[in-house]
Amino acid sequence: MKVLVIEDEAAIAARIVQALAAAGFVPEQAQDGEDALFRAIEEEFAAIVLDLGLPLLDGLSLLRRMRAAGRTTPVLIVSARASWSERVEGIDAGADDYLGKPFRVEELVARVRALVRRAHGHAHAVLTVRGIELDTRARTVAVDGVPVALTAAEYRLLHLLMQNAGRVLSRQELADQLYAEHEERESNTLEVLVGRLRRKVGEDAIRTRRGQGYLIVADEAGG
Ligand code: CA
Repeated sequence: MKVLVIEDEAAIAARIVQALAAAGFVPEQAQDGEDALFRAIEEEFAAIVLDLGLPLLDGLSLLRRMRAAGRTTPVLIVSARASWSERVEGIDAGADDYLGKPFRVEELVARVRALVRRAHGHAHAVLTVRGIELDTRARTVAVDGVPVALTAAEYRLLHLLMQNAGRVLSRQELADQLYAEHEERESNTLEVLVGRLRRKVGEDAIRTRRGQGYLIVADEAGG
């Protein structure tokens, strides 16, 4: 899942990007407010980490404009301005959470994870669909109670499909969320990845909708 990191201080941005990548996200960076606003409106991100003091357009204005444009992407503000009134201002501008600087990257990652989970309507850290159990905190997967080892890419794909269980994800949508923009990829990479994942979690688990994309069929309500 792609996360947009909007932070102009290179050292802080690098720490955030590294921690998010280690947690299985696909972080992308923007260094100024104008570029960031454009991307926040035009592209799909699972969450946005937003610094307030930015060149060209400040973070709060960016957030207000993005919300005015109808974008509901979860936003975590990361700022040194951490008085209660500034936090209120941030939340009022449309932020979902607020983290004061300095912060531990572990806490930032946990908060981003919680935002993404809530945005998808999941209150718990463990997703369960069709006997597949995915623990987003431990980053482990079990099928019918048996632990399964997945590569980072396989885990990201499974996480996306499970988070959107019951919905067909197009190849483009999946590729956008799985790979960073600059990453080179072969045209059949996704098929290969789906094939590998099927062999690990069950051939029937992931359905192909010809000409549309892939999905995991959601569990029936109540069962
Ligand atoms: Ca700044």
